[in-house]
Amino acid sequence: MAEAALALHNIVKTYKTVRALDGLSLSVERGTIFALLGPNGAGKSTTIKILTTLARPDSGEVRVAGLDALKEPQRVRRVIGCVAQRSGVDVDSTGLENLTLQGRLHGMGGAELKSRVSSLLERFGLAAAAARIARTYSGGMQRKLDIAMGLIHRPEILFLDEPTTGLDPEARSDLWDEIARLSTKGLTILLTTHYLEEADRLARQVAIVDRGRVVTEGTPESLKAELRGDSVQIDLASAATLAAIDRCFEAVPGVHDLQVTGSTLHARTDHGATAVPPMLLALEAAGIRTSSVRIARPSLDDVYLRYTGRTIQEAEREGRQ
Ligand code: ADP
Repeated sequence: MAEAALALHNIVKTYKTVRALDGLSLSVERGTIFALLGPNGAGKSTTIKILTTLARPDSGEVRVAGLDALKEPQRVRRVIGCVAQRSGVDVDSTGLENLTLQGRLHGMGGAELKSRVSSLLERFGLAAAAARIARTYSGGMQRKLDIAMGLIHRPEILFLDEPTTGLDPEARSDLWDEIARLSTKGLTILLTTHYLEEADRLARQVAIVDRGRVVTEGTPESLKAELRGDSVQIDLASAATLAAIDRCFEAVPGVHDLQVTGSTLHARTDHGATAVPPMLLALEAAGIRTSSVRIARPSLDDVYLRYTGRTIQEAEREGRQ
């Protein structure tokens, strides 16, 4: 098996009395998007600082692109791109100038840099604004410029620390499309987020971080699948009493909490995909016609709650106290 793009093993990092990371381990496959999901204060930024060689752990192993990051930080820096939470854009320079300067910092120049800058401006939809100072850019455009700057030297791995924090919903959704497109080109992306929806939408793998540790990890789907119970809604095309429906589900295992609102039947099921076919057959056998069915899977919110015992919003409030 190919070596992981990123691997952390048993990382401990303490700031004075705060144990920011408490034995954190993770592994990120090449060419995928991996999300570190957790509330403020969970340890996400510290993890990124260690992977990008900006901080050293007290103990543990750090491998980046097959390199020992504690022994060869310089080589690691050449193959990674970082987009920090705080923008690195100089707002008094144009988009073109920001990118060109960034390229020079990486030792690029001449025709190669020129063509790289214009292809990135094009790719991020910034070509028309290239000659404008970045102060005139919208929040979304500035973030795109930040990401383009992180990519100037063609890194193998890109770190995005809370890439959409502070953006309005439309700009956020637009940036999600952009990030998803980047990963189709073989780039490995590690992003941190406290938006469950962001992790769900973008990441192939998600690690939920709480109090400096990974509390669970998997694909968004597998994490959600671990939760018992889907909600099933069936639209009824013929009138039926709750009692009649209850009777017809007697022989269908794992169906509970029946309710009827208007012409919609609501039920909780142990496993929606398994329960729905016999539910529909039972209704049909009882002469109750149906028009449509919806199964709602548990969300990453439910997963977070299960593993940490609190909602992400509660954890954020706790972190601020
Ligand atoms: P996140 O990125 O998930 O919000 P951080 O990695 O920034 O979390 O922080 C983890 C914990 O470490 C928090 O309790 C934070 O207050 C603490 N911390 C982070 N950086 C420092 C620092 N430079 N000095 C002291 N404490 C820090």
